[in-house]
Formats: sequence, C-alpha cells, structure tokens
Amino acid sequence: MPFLPQSSVPQIENPCELSLVIPAFNEGSNLGPLIDRVVPVLNSLSKDWELIFVDDGSSDDTLVWIAAAHQKDNRIRGVSFSRNFGKEIAIAAGLDASRGDAVVIMDADLQHPPEMIGRFMALWREGNDVVYGQRVDRQSDGLLRRLFTYVFYHAFAMFGETPLPDGAGDFRLLDRKAVNALRSMGERARFSKGLYAWIGFKSIGIPFDVADRAQGSSKFSTRRLLHFALDGITSFSTVPLRLWTYIGALISGLALLMAAWVVISTLVYGTDVPGYATLLVSITFFAGVQLLSLGVIGEYIGRIFAEVKRRPLYIVGNTIGFDEAKAKKTSARKPKAATKI
Ligand code: UDP
Ligand code: MG
Repeated sequence: MPFLPQSSVPQIENPCELSLVIPAFNEGSNLGPLIDRVVPVLNSLSKDWELIFVDDGSSDDTLVWIAAAHQKDNRIRGVSFSRNFGKEIAIAAGLDASRGDAVVIMDADLQHPPEMIGRFMALWREGNDVVYGQRVDRQSDGLLRRLFTYVFYHAFAMFGETPLPDGAGDFRLLDRKAVNALRSMGERARFSKGLYAWIGFKSIGIPFDVADRAQGSSKFSTRRLLHFALDGITSFSTVPLRLWTYIGALISGLALLMAAWVVISTLVYGTDVPGYATLLVSITFFAGVQLLSLGVIGEYIGRIFAEVKRRPLYIVGNTIGFDEAKAKKTSARKPKAATKI
C-alpha cells in the first residue's frame, strides 16, 4: 500500500469516559515506568479509558514502546508524526484523536504525578469543566529557565490581553466541551496556556509539586523557549505593535521641540555649524528605533504568513491501534444490504 501521509488522525466515533493524552518526543527511556504507573491509576478510576501517545517525530525507540504497550493493552494507542512538530501541536493531535468525555493531558517524563488524575476526575464530576495542576514552585527548573519564565510571565501580564492563571500548565483535565473549543482553534502558532485561558469555562486549579524529570533532559532549549515566548506574546497581544505608535508620537513630539529650539537658537545666536556629534548620534539612534519597530512588525507579518498558508497543523506518519478500533466499530454496525445488480 502506498504511504499516504495524513493531516489528521483517524477518528473513532464511539466515546469513552476518560482519555489520557501524552505527547512524547524521544521519551523511550521513560515510557516503560510511565505506563507501569499510569495504567493502574486509570484502571482504578474508570472502566472505560484510553491512553493516547503522540510520538512527536522521535528518533529513539518511543514508537516501539508505544507499539509494545498496545500489544499488551489495546486501550493504549499511538499517533506518530512524520517529523518533530513541537509539544503544542502534539497536544492538538492528541485532542483530535481523543474521544473521552474528559481528557487529561500529561507529560511523558513523570514530572506530572499520575495519582493527581483521581482528584481531577473528582472535581470534574462535581461540575468543573477544566481542572488544572498548578505548580507551586519551579525548583525542578534551572536558574536561567526560572528567570526566563519570570520575565516572560511578567511581560505577558503587561502585554497580553488574556490573563493567565498563576502556575497553570499543560497538566490538566478538560471536559469534552473545552476539548471541542480548543479543537476549533486552527491557529498554527499555538500557545496552549493562552488558549486554555482564552476559551474560559468553569476552571479550578489544584496545587502540586513538580517532580524532577525521570530520565533524559528537557526538550526545550533556550532558543526554543524564546521562540515559544514570542509566539505566546504575538498570538495574544497586539500591544507590541501599538507601542510603536506611542513611541513614534513621543519621538515626533520631541523632534518638534528640538526643531523649535534650533530655529530660536539660530535666530538668536546665528548659525552654528558644528553639530556633527549630535547629528550622528541622532541618525544612528533613529535608524535603530526604526529597525526595531520594523522587526516587531516583521514578527507579526511572519506569523500572518504562516497562518495564511493554511498548511495542515501536523502530518501523521503512523498510527497504532486506530485502524483496528475503527474496524471493530464498523463490523459491529448492521451489515449493509447487498446492492442489486
Ligand atoms: N515534547 C514533545 N515535543 C517536543 C518537546 C517536548 O512532545 O518537541 C514532550 C516531551 O516528550 C514531554 C513534554 O512534551 O512529554 C514536556 O517536555 P519537557 O519535559 O522536555 O519540557 P519541560 O518539562 O522541560 O517543560
Ligand atoms: Mg519535563
């Protein structure tokens, strides 16, 4: 059969109660212990659950682990991307593939304690649409990362038009309503934390301590974090654009004052030719300001460009366990009447 990449995951229609979505990028060494810890928790919480791994273009044995887990328990399924698309998009694919009335998103590195899912479910049953884990401290992150996070969240609070709850991350339970709302947002630059806040719904946070990563190291390099931060701010705020209107107005005002001063001083004291330093400094300063503002506009234009291309959000290379689940569903249906010749 020819390889036909898919830009969506096959949909299984019959719903289940609980879906657990786990994005995994080169997490082969974590999946064994993760599955051993998660499956008993899921069994104790629901009779009708599914576990969906999204293999985000891993180059290690992540997919082999997922396939082996599916062999043991066919409620475990996997979607594998054709390349690395990033955690935010992996989460989007997981939500697309999920069919639970409640969907929990969790990291693969055991930083999010699976035992919390029970408390998520209890609060969901009490009528909350979104239950999120609220990290109380960031000791598990390095100093530089903490500083970066601090600066980013302050900048976001200043510029962002959507307030983010404190310490809320991706570890959360979403009711089907919230999942559908998130799935309706097709944007490519996905800043999930902002999207969660934007969709609203009755939400509640549970504080928890983030454990240390079980194996391996964080997949977010400083460069990637910086890019992610820019995505976050530009997709939730136009203040950086508007700021240049104010800066422009201020500079024009100052220039007018300076012009008045130059005219008056020329009238009073006559022409004063020296001024090379002032001229040079102001030319370079304003060239800098203009390039900076162009850069900010460029950031937005780049993102508009990415959005208008309307490429699919992700490309699926492989799926594990979807075809057979679909086939089961089809064979369970009433057979169609034979066509008359
Ligand atoms: N992840 C992913 N794609 C990526 C980067 C990360 O699916 O491009 C997954 C990763 O496997 C893990 C989760 O996202 O399950 C969180 O990643 P990580 O632990 O590296 O981030 P951190 O905990 O440092 O924020
Ligand atoms: Mg982690």
